[in-house]
Amino acid sequence: MTRPVISWLRDQLEHEFDPPEGEKPRYRTKSLPKGELHGTFLVTTGVIQATRAAVSSFAHAGVYEGGHEGIAYWAGREMADCTVFMQALIPVADHSNGRVMVSELELSRVRRAASRDRLGLLAQIHSHPGPDARHSDGDDDLVLMPFENMLSIVLPHFGFLFETMADACVHQFQAGKWVLCSEKSVRDQMRVISEVADMRVAE
Ligand SMILES: [Zn+2]
Repeated sequence: MTRPVISWLRDQLEHEFDPPEGEKPRYRTKSLPKGELHGTFLVTTGVIQATRAAVSSFAHAGVYEGGHEGIAYWAGREMADCTVFMQALIPVADHSNGRVMVSELELSRVRRAASRDRLGLLAQIHSHPGPDARHSDGDDDLVLMPFENMLSIVLPHFGFLFETMADACVHQFQAGKWVLCSEKSVRDQMRVISEVADMRVAE
C-alpha cells in the first residue's frame, strides 16, 4: 500500500485510532500489566513494509467476512547492546475475523527457516480488526514458547496503517508474563532504521 493511501486511511480512521487512555481493553477481561520496554531494538523499514503487506494480505483474504486477522514473525540477531530485526517471516495460519492461529508444527518450520539464515525468531506480530491493539485474553497464549524479553507486537486496523512503532502496541515477556510497554519506552528504545541514507539530500 502506498503512502498516500495509508494517509487517506489514517484520516478516515483518525477518530477512533487511539483508544481512550484508561478505557477497558475491548478483547480482555484479565488485567494487563503495564511497564517499560527492556533493551534496545532496531528494525528496518523493509521489515516494517513487508510486515504491513503480509498482514494486510490476511485481511484481504477474508474481505467478505469483514477482514481476517493476520500474523508474522520477526527474525534477527540479539547482540550485547541491542536486538536487530532483519527479516519478516509469514507463516501458514488458520485465520478468521476474530482470531489467527499458527500450529506448533508450522512454528517449527518458520523457526528452521530463520535458523538457516542464522537468525533467531525474536518477535511475533499479529493484527486486530479494530483500534484496540492491546493483548486480548487469548493473545497471552497465542505466542508459543515465549522467552524472556521476547516481543509480541499487535497492529490495530488489520495492520493497514503500520508505518512506525507508534502505530503498534508492543508487549514484552518479562518475568513470566506479558507486559504492555509504555509508548515512551518504545519511542526511546525501539528505532526504525531506513535501509538507505542518501546523504546528498539535505535534512
Ligand atoms: Zn490479538
